[in-house]
Amino acid sequence: MKQFNFHEAKSVKEAVKFSSKNSAFLSGGQTLIPSMKLRLSSFSDIINIKNIKDLKGIKVSGKSVKIGAVAKHAEVASSKDVQKAIPALSSLAGGIGDMQVRNKGTLGGSIANNDPSACYPSACIALNAIIYTSNRKIEAKKFFKGMFETALKKDELVTAVEFSIPEKSSYVKIPNPASRYALVGVFLAKYKKDIICAVTGAQPVVYRSEEIEKALHNNFSPESLDDLNLVTEDMNADIHASADYRASLVVSAAQKAVAHCK
Ligand SMILES: Cc1cc2nc3c(=O)[nH]c(=O)nc-3n(C[C@H](O)[C@H](O)[C@H](O)COP(=O)(O)OP(=O)(O)OC[C@H]3O[C@@H](n4cnc5c(N)ncnc54)[C@H](O)[C@@H]3O)c2cc1C
Repeated sequence: MKQFNFHEAKSVKEAVKFSSKNSAFLSGGQTLIPSMKLRLSSFSDIINIKNIKDLKGIKVSGKSVKIGAVAKHAEVASSKDVQKAIPALSSLAGGIGDMQVRNKGTLGGSIANNDPSACYPSACIALNAIIYTSNRKIEAKKFFKGMFETALKKDELVTAVEFSIPEKSSYVKIPNPASRYALVGVFLAKYKKDIICAVTGAQPVVYRSEEIEKALHNNFSPESLDDLNLVTEDMNADIHASADYRASLVVSAAQKAVAHCK
């Protein structure tokens, strides 16, 4: 690892002040530290944000669940409030990686990193999330731009994410057996007048499957997806799964998601 300056930020304002073109915020360190150790990235300044009070906490109101950026996956999974308001969100958090990853990894780090196989981006899209940053609010649909790319500016800090509470929802992940990242993950949310099916792992960036949403609007049942053949040209293909296989996993994950929607 190369040498760098380490800053302990006590507030959001201080974290932003420490940031520069060549700095990085340190949250749980689950991606940042390995990538620095492997020399895939290097920074002149590392800004520790995980002790900033304003980035902590989980608040449930009538219509939404607002979670601080440094909330660890284990906290979201074990929160009784989240379990009650959006059970699919706590179950998503409880299925991330392994126990060590869940006890270090954070919501803000996950969405800022925007790994194409990460679970949280699909929840953000399906639950019409608002991403709060150090200087603005961003709708989830405008936040996830491309593979490992978001709408965040270099000195912009995610402070919290607010998820709307749907009538019913579920998250089904087909995990890579080694890493537990999603080969494919489907987050399905049903609202009074809308159904959102957000898919992660299958394409370079999280997306809504219009084909699945349309079929479910006509008939909200797993069987309504029986004959669906998704277009495979935009699907990821790698040593873990071909594009055709991923397309078929998306449909079967969506069918399970409908069956378990609550
Ligand atoms: C073995 C393993 C298995 C995993 N399995 C899964 C899985 O199944 N599903 C899944 O979704 N994820 C998985 N992950 C990812 C993990 O859960 C973390 O969310 C992810 O690695 C980000 O880590 P972190 O929160 O510690 O952020 P860090 O590593 O500290 O930061 C990641 C990046 O985001 C930036 N950043 C951090 N916080 C903020 C912020 N508040 N505002 C702006 N920028 C910020 C950092 O500067 C850095 O560039 C896995 C990781 C590992 C190591």
